Amino acid sequence: MVISKIGIDVVDAHAHYFTFQTIKRWLDSGASLNRIQQRVAHNTDMGTLTIPDENWDAGQMWMDELDKYGISAIGMMISSEVWDDFNQTRKRFPGRFMGYANIDPASDDAVDLVKRAGKDGFQGIKLYPSSGNYNAYDEKLYPIYEEALRQKLLVILHFGITIGATANLRYGNPLDIQKPAQDFPDLNFMIAHFGAGFFREVLMLMYQTHNVVMDTSGSNSWMIYQPYDLTITKIFEKALKAGSACRVVFGTDSSFFPRGFRYNILEEQYNAVRSICPQLCYSDNDINLIFRENILRLTGFKPK
Ligand SMILES: [Zn+2]
Repeated sequence: MVISKIGIDVVDAHAHYFTFQTIKRWLDSGASLNRIQQRVAHNTDMGTLTIPDENWDAGQMWMDELDKYGISAIGMMISSEVWDDFNQTRKRFPGRFMGYANIDPASDDAVDLVKRAGKDGFQGIKLYPSSGNYNAYDEKLYPIYEEALRQKLLVILHFGITIGATANLRYGNPLDIQKPAQDFPDLNFMIAHFGAGFFREVLMLMYQTHNVVMDTSGSNSWMIYQPYDLTITKIFEKALKAGSACRVVFGTDSSFFPRGFRYNILEEQYNAVRSICPQLCYSDNDINLIFRENILRLTGFKPK
C-alpha cells in the first residue's frame, strides 16, 4: 500500500497517456498545433503545452510522478499509437498502470480492438460519442458492449463539454447510456467529469440505473457553464446523495508534462469530501471507496 501526500491510499481512475507519437498523429491528421495550443491556453488550467520529443520516456516520467505524490496506481486512456509503448510501461512497472483503450466505433476493427484490449490485460475502453458523432445507444455499438462484457472491461464515456474543438454536443447527453445500461446489466459504465455539464442527467441516472458510476476527474470547469452556482464541494454533496460513495470514482484527468500529476485536484477534491463528511455522516470507509476502492472493484485491478 502506498500512502499519498494527503495521507490516504489513492488510485487515480482517469488520466491520459501521451507520447511523441500522440502529437505526431495529431499533426499528421491535419490538426494545427497552433490551434491546439490556443485551446489549451484558453480553455484549460495548463497554460502551456510542452511538445514531447522522441526521447521522452513517458512511462518513467509517470512513475516518477506517482512516486513523488504517493499514488498507488493510475488509469490511462490509450490510443492506438501509444498502445505498444504503454504495454511496455505496464510490464516495467507492474501494478501501477491501468489501461483503457480508446475505441472509435466507426473503425472496422473496433470490436477486435476491444478484444485485444482484454487479451492485453487492459481494464476498460473509452468512448467519446460527441467527438465520433454517434449516439451511445446506437445498436451499432452493441457488439462493442458485448465484447467489453466478455472481456470484463469497464466502459468509460465522455459526455458533455469537451476540449475537442469539433465535438458535437448533440451526442453528448449522458442519458444516451441509460438503454445500454439496461440492456447490459452486468457491464459497468463510468461517466467522466460528472457528465461535464450534464450533471442533472447523471444524477438522474443514479436513480434509473444500477451499473452507471461517475468519475470526478479534471478541474470540473463545466460548472461555469451552468445556470446556477456550483462548487466542487456542492458537486460532491449532490453526487454522494444521489449515488452514494460507491458510485463516485476519483480521477485527475492528468495528461501532459510539465504539469504531470494534478496533485492540486486530488487535494481540492479530498478537502471537499472531508468538509462534508461530518454533517452528511460519511466515514473514512466512504473516502476509501471514492479515492481507491471503487475503481478497483469496477476493474478487478490489483495495485502493487
Ligand atoms: Zn480525460
